[in-house]
Amino acid sequence: MFWDQQCETLDRDTLERLQLHRLQETVRRVAANVPFYRQKFAELHIQPDNIQSLADLSRLPFTTSADLRQNYPTGLLAVPCEATLRLHTSSGTTGKPKALFFSRLDVDNAAELCARSFVMTGITARDVFQNMMTYGMFTGALVTHYGAEKIGCLVIPAGPGNSERQLMLMQDFRTTFIHLTPSYGLYLSTFLEKHGIDPARDLALRKAFVGAEPYTEETRRKIEEGLGLDVYNSYGLSEMNGPGVAFECVHKSGMHLWEDHFLMEIINPQTGEPVPDGEPGELVLTTLCREAMPLLRYRTRDITSLIPGCCPCGRTHRRLNRITGRSDDMFIVRGVNIYPQQIERVLMAQKGVGRNYVITLAGYDEMTVKVELAEAGFDGQVEHLVKFQGQLAEKLRTEILIKPRIEFLPPGSLPVNEGKARRVIDERKM
Ligand code: ADP
Ligand code: ZN
Repeated sequence: MFWDQQCETLDRDTLERLQLHRLQETVRRVAANVPFYRQKFAELHIQPDNIQSLADLSRLPFTTSADLRQNYPTGLLAVPCEATLRLHTSSGTTGKPKALFFSRLDVDNAAELCARSFVMTGITARDVFQNMMTYGMFTGALVTHYGAEKIGCLVIPAGPGNSERQLMLMQDFRTTFIHLTPSYGLYLSTFLEKHGIDPARDLALRKAFVGAEPYTEETRRKIEEGLGLDVYNSYGLSEMNGPGVAFECVHKSGMHLWEDHFLMEIINPQTGEPVPDGEPGELVLTTLCREAMPLLRYRTRDITSLIPGCCPCGRTHRRLNRITGRSDDMFIVRGVNIYPQQIERVLMAQKGVGRNYVITLAGYDEMTVKVELAEAGFDGQVEHLVKFQGQLAEKLRTEILIKPRIEFLPPGSLPVNEGKARRVIDERKM
């Protein structure tokens, strides 16, 4: 099950020679065409010819999302404006968005990597793809859309939400695979359950590509059960084309990062130094093929680790562990560092708990976990509910070291997350 067997199985020596060649080209191009990099190189006394081995990568400057914003809209372009074909933006929370330009080659490469990523799980031209990601400026939907078309799949550009219509489309056109956020995957599971749909009996769904935000193995299992399919973790970011940067193969043991297109480093976010293989750190990516807007050592802020060893599928591109969160997702309550995924892991493994939750921080450092009960989660006995609350708070304390307040809500009462969910609401007066 290969889309491009030669590229996907290049022996490591050949792959690394190719990476070095592409890195040298990229460095030469940005030195010649991007004033931002020219200035950085001058400050660091770097000449393009100094890059003689992959180890020389560490001499190059980092690029941050602040650099993208400061050079908005066209400051980081490495080609004339007329050579650009498509504009995407990445949301971000404050101020200007990040503008990401694609040339014709970039648009084609992005689709190519998605085609590779889909085919490695067994997708063929006979499959029907219902794309439940948000269409628009966001890369999430368009890039996978063109990837699936490249394979020859029938593509249904449904976008997220409107679950009645999703269901109708899935039934009428016998959709076999979908692409969506974990938040919407959880919601759609609840929706099908509520409408008495048994996916195995009533739908043709086989696979879901789930990404765009962090989630846990427990959430994967919940979506797999709820939708009756295999969930594959899919990773990407707009700065690197969008989806198709690293996806899981059939072995679901880490995501193969397409190393002929991206150079990866995993660093200690505080010191900027590389961490030993297998240790968690921040993923840093350098584009090797991007034409319109190459980026050197881009700080993704995503926390992950490298999986040592080879994958039985035969692909030589190394694998990343599940992204456990963004370095800036972390919040601190009473002096303890907490990632939302730690809470999610406990909630999604807990019987009786539903599929939607939100964490609120209020007053002077008070943390409340508001979580929906499962449809059959409450037998009407208040004392059972109180006991359950205590048990869940205790389980969370083991994971995050402090005991949050638990607020149970009826199924369906929290806002529906169709795209990326906002899981933490911080209204503390501190
Ligand atoms: P933004 O969210 O900043 O607007 P993007 O839409 O480009 O930017 O989203 C990219 C980000 O989404 C990644 O940097 C990462 O934080 C998150 N992401 C994407 N896929 C996954 C995944 N499979 N697991 C965890 N996080 C993911
Ligand atoms: Zn593999």
